[in-house]
Amino acid sequence: MKCTVCGAQMRSTTSDLPFKTSDQTIVILKSLPVLQCETCAQYLIENAVLGRVDQILAAVDGAAELEIIRYAA
Ligand SMILES: [Zn+2]
Repeated sequence: MKCTVCGAQMRSTTSDLPFKTSDQTIVILKSLPVLQCETCAQYLIENAVLGRVDQILAAVDGAAELEIIRYAA
């Protein structure tokens, strides 16, 4: 996989990323598998992981302003 911004090689790593699920709720997913560019800050999430992220976010009840969830496939 090549970076869409600079064309450098992207490598698999894990990252903690915030997702806004509503006006008031932010979910931070920890240890999320992502592809990170080696030379710029660009990253992308593979479709399979993104599908799982959608499932996790859908299960958040939204009552809390901030939820921190460890990603598990
Ligand atoms: Zn790049």
